[in-house]
Amino acid sequence: MTKRVYLFGAGSADGNSGMKELLGGKGANLAEMANLGLPVPAGFTITTEVCLEYLKVGGFPDGLREEVGKAMVWVEKTMGRKFGAAADPLLLSCRSGARASMPGMMDTVLNIGLNDTTLEGLIKASRDERFALDCYRRLIEMYGDVVMKVKRELYHHALEAAKKSAGVSEDRHLPPAALREVVAAYKNITRQHAGRPFPEDPLEQIWGAIAAVFSSWNIPRAVEYRRIHSLPDDWGTAVNVQSMVFGNLGEDCGTGVAFTRSPATGQKGIYGEFLPNAQGEDVVAGIRTPQPIRKSAEAGLPSLEETMPAIFTELCAIAERLEKHFREMQDIEFTIMKGVLYTLQTRRGARTGQAAVRIAVEMVADGLIAENEALLRVDAERLTDLLAPAFDPAARERATREGRLLARGLNAGPGAACGRVALTAEKAFAMARAEGKTRQRVILVRAETSPEDIKGMAASEGILTARGGMTSHAAVVARGMGKPCIVGCGAISIAPDGKSFSVGERVVKEGDFISIDGTTGEVLIGELPTTSSEIVRVLVDRTLKPDAAPAYKYFASLMTWADAVRRMRVRTNADTPADAHVARELGAQGIGLCRTEHMFFGEDRIVAVREMILADDEAGRRRALQEILPMQRADFTGIFEAMHGLPVTIRLLDPPLHEFLPHEKAQIEGVAKAMGIGPDHVRRRVEALAEANPMLGHRGCRLGLTYPEIYEVQVQAIFEAAVEVASKGIEVKPEVMIPLVGTVEELRRLRDMTVAVADRVLGAAGHKVEYLVGTMIEVPRACLVAAEIAGAAQFFSFGTNDLTQMTFGFSRDDTRNFLPFYVAERVLPGDPFQSMDAAGVGRLVEMAVKEGRGASKGLKIGICGEHGGDPASINFFHLAGLDYVSCSPYRVPIARLAAAQASLKEKRP
Ligand code: PEP
Ligand code: MG
Repeated sequence: MTKRVYLFGAGSADGNSGMKELLGGKGANLAEMANLGLPVPAGFTITTEVCLEYLKVGGFPDGLREEVGKAMVWVEKTMGRKFGAAADPLLLSCRSGARASMPGMMDTVLNIGLNDTTLEGLIKASRDERFALDCYRRLIEMYGDVVMKVKRELYHHALEAAKKSAGVSEDRHLPPAALREVVAAYKNITRQHAGRPFPEDPLEQIWGAIAAVFSSWNIPRAVEYRRIHSLPDDWGTAVNVQSMVFGNLGEDCGTGVAFTRSPATGQKGIYGEFLPNAQGEDVVAGIRTPQPIRKSAEAGLPSLEETMPAIFTELCAIAERLEKHFREMQDIEFTIMKGVLYTLQTRRGARTGQAAVRIAVEMVADGLIAENEALLRVDAERLTDLLAPAFDPAARERATREGRLLARGLNAGPGAACGRVALTAEKAFAMARAEGKTRQRVILVRAETSPEDIKGMAASEGILTARGGMTSHAAVVARGMGKPCIVGCGAISIAPDGKSFSVGERVVKEGDFISIDGTTGEVLIGELPTTSSEIVRVLVDRTLKPDAAPAYKYFASLMTWADAVRRMRVRTNADTPADAHVARELGAQGIGLCRTEHMFFGEDRIVAVREMILADDEAGRRRALQEILPMQRADFTGIFEAMHGLPVTIRLLDPPLHEFLPHEKAQIEGVAKAMGIGPDHVRRRVEALAEANPMLGHRGCRLGLTYPEIYEVQVQAIFEAAVEVASKGIEVKPEVMIPLVGTVEELRRLRDMTVAVADRVLGAAGHKVEYLVGTMIEVPRACLVAAEIAGAAQFFSFGTNDLTQMTFGFSRDDTRNFLPFYVAERVLPGDPFQSMDAAGVGRLVEMAVKEGRGASKGLKIGICGEHGGDPASINFFHLAGLDYVSCSPYRVPIARLAAAQASLKEKRP
């Protein structure tokens, strides 16, 4: 029979940390902690398999009740108390736990087992009537909300009313008599709104809770979280039923979260927060601003280190042990009950990109992990955190002098963000997602965030909350999304009408601009300009010395290790010497795509380009091209110089023509004047060239074949530039790339033209420059006849943007009305223009690689579509055997790390 229930506690467990698929992350690690002999209250885990079965058939599988019954007996024996007993009752918690952490997204019920009878038993055992009543009212509220679907606000209103009539501001100051009235009111609310009473039977309570937690796998915020983080829907959650320990039994009690290193910066040493005399989710919920674990000068609040030194020492020892054991930064949940410490959860701690890099590198230095392991520990995408701009220091200083520094909070998620204030998640979503011109950058400002806010948080540039600590929901979720975030900004007070917030006398209205610095915790009025990150200042701007840049040093170590293990090379997509320079300093090993059409938009040349396109005949085009030639030559010279010695792939013109055509009156008149013809003539040419579907129209090699003089002049410019640069003693490696090829004949003709012009220029100059002529593979037909095409190409470069467009039949420019729906409704697992569709587009890529290399052994193959900077796609390209990926300059480090990870993962068993 399949085992469905796994015990843990009292120094042993049925499971271990290797069983996350079956027991969920929380269950597997509770088992591991119990096996290590750590103080884990006894309990059991019901597997994720049961969840999937429950969700499929809508009921519990046969035999589960018996298995759970046996587990309960063991827990009761281990804890020395009985569930449902009138005297000193055992209470249980029921929590979700999926394979990957989904902070706060699913449901939890605490204090299960309380009813009117066991309540009196708990009062006697605890000798604290207020505490027992508080547990009871929390149970009714959570159970009512999670299991019986009663709106949580209804309970909150009743509690607020009770506090008001008792004249107290905090829950914990409500006297027992008032709490008894709250319990009675809660029961009434439940009966009235659920249509049945709160169940007094403890067994009914526990089964109701288990069912609700399983079902919470599919509640909207959990589904949304999985969508944002690309987690599969078919994992299911385990349920952990565990003996309650109480952090709210008095001042020698508390509950908190400890990290073994700082999740914001990665600095070593215990770090975290706790709330004295509090229960369960209070810390994560961000309702009160918690106190630090370690003594700190700035915090101004007494720390655990000062108030409970013995517990602090014990906690430090446990933290160190867990980190050594898991060889990973841990996020540990703990509760202190009457001076005794319990550990309730440990997991891999979420962290910023900065922290991830520092922790990985320092753990190698500490001898905890090897370099290759360190490389796999950093989410490549999160390197964007290290490269993202920060506020310009001078502008910030000025803003401060001008009195625009509004408030300071906790620096929960690093980075700088500006945007308009939105005071609800719905508003933030609406403002940020509005179509066209009304789309706005938004900062979500809340008293505290709740898991329901996930969509609005995802749509915002940054998040600011008045309450909560570094481990509050807002902080954890924002860090997970890589968003700048400030929490616990106590100076902020949101107006009762929810239309503005104030700091003292100053009022900020919804829609006003603010700037938040998640690295320092500062909130400023207005929009602040940003400046380069530390890494960019060292490598690109050269305004900072490496010795003065600690973040750079960790980054540099990691990159050195990555470069040593990756097989694929990383190039960049760059059309200007400035971009080429940035990419080179960030580690690009060449240019994989220089889009020549981007060079034609400048004011100095657009008229000449329009003349070329609109000319009636070849002679007219050649005249215009003679004006363009020197400009193109200068472009290429600059790029070759910036890339000295590295290969540069230049793509011949691939313009969707409509982008260049003049439409406005003034533009038409300008071109007419330059061409010496009438505006009507120009208008007629524009009409003649207009296309119904420009993306599938007169572009790429089709243009090169019909107007050969355009490509001829471009090739001439490339090789004249190459000669000029080579004659300065700088090595040049031009690679000419023909776009949008679908048949070998297209390529053959254009290759012959390219070789003829190149050899003519080089021969006339008496210079020898090695060069290649290859093609983009971006039309599905090219993949199907790759063997033929390879016969005429010295390299292939996949243009996965067009290949995705043409494989799906999705116009790249017209996806806005259906693709977001497809992704939200899971018609597609994700946006195929962001992360490559492995099953369809990927299959074409694999086919073209195999056939191309079959016909031309050792054919050089790369990719230059946007997917060249996406880690999951990079992994695919590695496995497909590509030689290089090419991506935008600031994604080069991400691609270097992702390529290294792909090499390492392939070698792993
Ligand atoms: C591509 O199609 O993937 C590509 C790189 O070309 P472009 O995006 O310029 O069409
Ligand atoms: Mg293309």
